[in-house]
Amino acid sequence: MSGPGAQTSAALRLGIDLGGTKIAGVALGADGRACAERRAPAPHDDYAATVAAVAAMVALLEQAAGRAGSIGIGMPGSLVPASGLAQNANSTWLNGRPFQRDLEARLGRPVRLANDANCFALSEAVDGAAAGARSVFGVILGTGCGGGLVFDGALIDGPRGIGGEWGHNPLPWAEPDEHPGPKCWCGRLGCIETWVSGPGLAADHARATGMRLSAEEVAARAVGGDADARATLDRHAGRLARGLAHVVNIFDPDVIVLGGGLSKLANLYAALPDLMAPYVLAGQAGVIVKPPVWGDAGGMRGAAWLWD
Ligand SMILES: [Zn+2]
Repeated sequence: MSGPGAQTSAALRLGIDLGGTKIAGVALGADGRACAERRAPAPHDDYAATVAAVAAMVALLEQAAGRAGSIGIGMPGSLVPASGLAQNANSTWLNGRPFQRDLEARLGRPVRLANDANCFALSEAVDGAAAGARSVFGVILGTGCGGGLVFDGALIDGPRGIGGEWGHNPLPWAEPDEHPGPKCWCGRLGCIETWVSGPGLAADHARATGMRLSAEEVAARAVGGDADARATLDRHAGRLARGLAHVVNIFDPDVIVLGGGLSKLANLYAALPDLMAPYVLAGQAGVIVKPPVWGDAGGMRGAAWLWD
């Protein structure tokens, strides 16, 4: 994003995952192994403090690693390529701010930024569950629902900075009882995120049963044999399959990798290929869906890989 050539040692890559509540950072050596990892709380509703906290994380990592490195950052939302201003971040104090410019001014060197789901996808494509695959769709199913596309080892970011953002498309092939669907924070009705994110799964269970449980609690009850909880997981898997099939019909990825809290739902990996098949426009769908190799570390690792 910032042009070629780190002016610092190519042998060390810093990756920082800026989340809503925490900042996680890693320093990767040339072999891709972590030589330092640090965590810090993320400032809330304070832009200047957020810039300062990211800069402090860079200093911590470089102190631990004993040398300077290239700097990649995964962020909520993205930067508008034309203006450089942040957009679509649920850490709303970033939106409309020249985040890259301010970080570079503070650090005195170039930084590369990408959406956090894009960083996750890149991490799994480089040396994770999709290593060696030419085309990868990485999906984060957590409090929200993000996605990232990687082709030939590079992110497809796009001229608007929204490549792979499928969560606010409508749920495809909606059944009558799924239309128009729940209200989404983005202002629309029936977004995929309102169905397949953790809160989306929990809300669906509450509508069906009247019981307010978290997605994790629903999953635990399903394992324990609770029929209502199993039915909720089945509805969730069916909706996720339709959402993913829509992407397969456009991008036809070699591998789909799931991330975020709901990637721990073990039922998904066996069920999704068969559930997707009727909606994929290919005789032998056989879509490969994998759990992540790097778990929560994918965001910061992928940010580090923003530098070649
Ligand atoms: Zn939405």
